[in-house]
Amino acid sequence: MKASAFAYARATSLENALELLTAHGEKAKVLSGGQSLLPAMNLRLIAPEFVVDIGDLLELHGVAVHGDVLTIGALTRHADLLGSPEIASHAPLLREAVAHVAHPAIRNRGTIGGSLAQADPASELPACMLTLGATIVARGPGGERRIAAHEFFTGIFETALLPQELLVAVELPMPAKDATHFFHEFSRRHGDYAIVGLAAQARVKNDRFADLRLGYFAIGDRPLLASSASKLVGVVITSAVLSEACSALGAELAPLEDQQATPAMRRHLAKVLLTRCVSSLLARSDLGAGASA
Ligand code: FAD
Repeated sequence: MKASAFAYARATSLENALELLTAHGEKAKVLSGGQSLLPAMNLRLIAPEFVVDIGDLLELHGVAVHGDVLTIGALTRHADLLGSPEIASHAPLLREAVAHVAHPAIRNRGTIGGSLAQADPASELPACMLTLGATIVARGPGGERRIAAHEFFTGIFETALLPQELLVAVELPMPAKDATHFFHEFSRRHGDYAIVGLAAQARVKNDRFADLRLGYFAIGDRPLLASSASKLVGVVITSAVLSEACSALGAELAPLEDQQATPAMRRHLAKVLLTRCVSSLLARSDLGAGASA
């Protein structure tokens, strides 16, 4: 199928993009890498009357460190994240997750801003944003606002962005020097959307978690920062403690049913991931902080 007829403009500046979005309101859609927008238009799942291409806005590209904040421009492509030394040093969880997003051809065009604005609950990057405590920077006609990642994702393909706003950047706090991470997703093939996935970051001291953040994806209508992680912090991890945390996790999840899995299967897989995550992070701490899986 082909997309319905639409008008197109290539924004010449950030201000120009915002003017176009304000003028066309809900009838307009932003085009970044087009890896989600164009398939949806071609399948006629959506039919925007106006497409605002922001690809020329160089100020939205790139990764930079400012003090203790890592800033990633919205138009930074998945492939750029994979090749960035700053991401490798300061956000290794994100680097590992990006390698699971689709395939090289899509990673060469798709952008972090597009992935977050798309808010597919099965996407890897939104869950990483929760785990890493990201702030999403949006720019609209009234200026800039910062939205905590846990308030940004509001439902399936829904975010806190307004139609006339652009996602311009993501800010990540620098992780603690002794932070370690775990990433795993169950999917039919590498590069497919996950059936269930977990992006976790932790600090381990004396065989106990000093901090543990568990970002699940493909588990409900949006990514979830599991509060059951608190059951594992500051205590000796025994099988009873782990079992209690798994039960608490099962209770807080609201998995969806689709062609890939039933809710019961997703709950089960989420608990399997939690168990693997805990043993992997604790085993790594025995090898010394910073060791990778
Ligand atoms: P676009 O397609 O350009 O835009 C996506 C949406 O976000 C649109 O609604 C657009 O209007 C809006 N938007 C884009 N940029 C902005 C902005 N700066 N501000 C406000 N709104 C904006 N994704 C995964 O996460 N994991 C996968 O495993 C995966 N597998 C895929 C497999 C295939 C075959 C395909 C085609 C896609 C797959 N994707 C996957 C989706 C894709 O990788 C991402 O969703 C995509 O990279 C989004 O980025 P984009 O720049 O292409 O966004």
